[in-house]
Amino acid sequence: MNIDFAARFQTVLARIRTAERQFQRPPHSVRLLAVSKTHPASAVAELAAAGQRDFGENYIQEALDKIAELAALDLEWHFIGPIQANKTRSIAEHFAWVHSVDRLKIAERLNAQRPADLPPLNICLEVNIDREPSKHGFDESELADMARTVATLPRLRLRGLMAIPAPAADFAAQRQPFARLREWKERLNIAGLDTLSMGMSDDLEAAVAEGATLVRIGTALFGPRA
Ligand SMILES: *Cc1c(COP(=O)(O)O)cnc(C)c1O
Repeated sequence: MNIDFAARFQTVLARIRTAERQFQRPPHSVRLLAVSKTHPASAVAELAAAGQRDFGENYIQEALDKIAELAALDLEWHFIGPIQANKTRSIAEHFAWVHSVDRLKIAERLNAQRPADLPPLNICLEVNIDREPSKHGFDESELADMARTVATLPRLRLRGLMAIPAPAADFAAQRQPFARLREWKERLNIAGLDTLSMGMSDDLEAAVAEGATLVRIGTALFGPRA
């Protein structure tokens, strides 16, 4: 298999820049997170060579292997998958961002385990925006209290909110949960909250329309996962 990662990278960047223009977002206000889960370190290295710096991973052991293999590259690693309490130390030690904080206990462990010689860990709270029983994330009813508590933890830096909406039938329906997440970020009104982590390969334009500052893109960059 010979994927032209540089061409896919340019196509995704063009989608983001086009959506920024179409929805009156400032140029370069949306950051691309390349979701490399299940794809080999060699694919990450090719995308890095094309200019990508931020990479997202879901599975801790797979991520640690890639981070070690690519240590010579100047990359920023984001953890975006479900978090087991016994994996927080590895995450606190090896990542710059965590997008999938969904319980106070996890935030407290990451805060306690973040090494003193690293900057505070950037955090997004995951919100179960469509109230799906099978999905991770805080319920909207508990979000305000959780955000205020997490914002006080000194080794974390609460940056914003993340969501993975249920699949939607059309563009207007895709926009609705993203709009709610944007409204929550505004309503929380906490200093330093500058991130809306929302939008994937199939709905990035709807997310940009509603204020995404970071889109998490896997399939459109790396091809389908096995
Ligand atoms: C896998 C994954 C993505 C990427 O999804 P694509 O549809 O492949 O772009 C984004 N966010 C999270 C949390 C994921 O687990």
